[in-house]
Amino acid sequence: MAMPPVFRFAPSPNGYLHLGHALSALLNVEAARAAGGRLLLRIEDIDVTRCRPEFETAIYEDLAWLGIAWEQPVRRQSEHFEDYRAALARLDAMGLIYPSFESRAEIAALVTERERQGPWPRDPDGAPFYPGTAKDMPCDERARRIASGEPHALRLDMKRAVMRVGALSWQEAGRGAVAADPAAWGDVVLARKDVPASYHLAVVIDDALQDVTDVVRGQDLFHSTSVHRLLQSLLGLPAPRYRHHRLVLDADGRKLSKSTAATALRQLRAEGLTPADIRRRVGLD
Ligand code: GLU
Repeated sequence: MAMPPVFRFAPSPNGYLHLGHALSALLNVEAARAAGGRLLLRIEDIDVTRCRPEFETAIYEDLAWLGIAWEQPVRRQSEHFEDYRAALARLDAMGLIYPSFESRAEIAALVTERERQGPWPRDPDGAPFYPGTAKDMPCDERARRIASGEPHALRLDMKRAVMRVGALSWQEAGRGAVAADPAAWGDVVLARKDVPASYHLAVVIDDALQDVTDVVRGQDLFHSTSVHRLLQSLLGLPAPRYRHHRLVLDADGRKLSKSTAATALRQLRAEGLTPADIRRRVGLD
């Protein structure tokens, strides 16, 4: 018998859910229902400095208020750092990751210096490419600095990774095959200085471990899919189908932010809006 498709809604508990999250969660519910599929909830809380338990509790409350049900247990990424470490070890064994030791301020200064000499590439989110030279650090210096406990991020050697896998694409709902362009991201961070994972790594590992077949998420993550396809290919993981949906914008046409209270679901609920009002506000029904 064919297995039912698996969808997931994967918020980060670093603020209160807003109308954009409501749209994403409701679209996942509808897609899962239409396909006779399952719906998982995943708490993406690897950012230990910004994620807070009260935001996680609020996610459960807000989703339940919207009438959304999800399967138990909920996967919390912070409980699975070993899975991410294991993937990093595999990429390391392939010679595809390297440590970089610079602070944010040092990186910003290096970018300024590079930009003084001419245009310096930026990734699809507008962040400058890593400007450092850690990839070329002599092995003994690298080993010495790691042994001395110096904090470091782990970056993907994008050139080598892309060379290893060749051309990639993904299936986008309503569009068909989309060519992936991971090189547009430069040497992305796969493990942050403070946690042995990054968004890109954790999302790919978890989608595979949870047998996710269909990723329905905001258009703001469309280009990230290129990195995700690359990591899936390197790690031998299956590729889900993707659907990147429109974003809910504010009155000025900007993406909603978790720091603006005005569109937070709990604020709107306190103002007396009903779940049906929320559906209308996000353009469903
Ligand atoms: N945790 C991400 C966010 O809250 C979503 C990740 C995903 O759906 O792939 O933006």
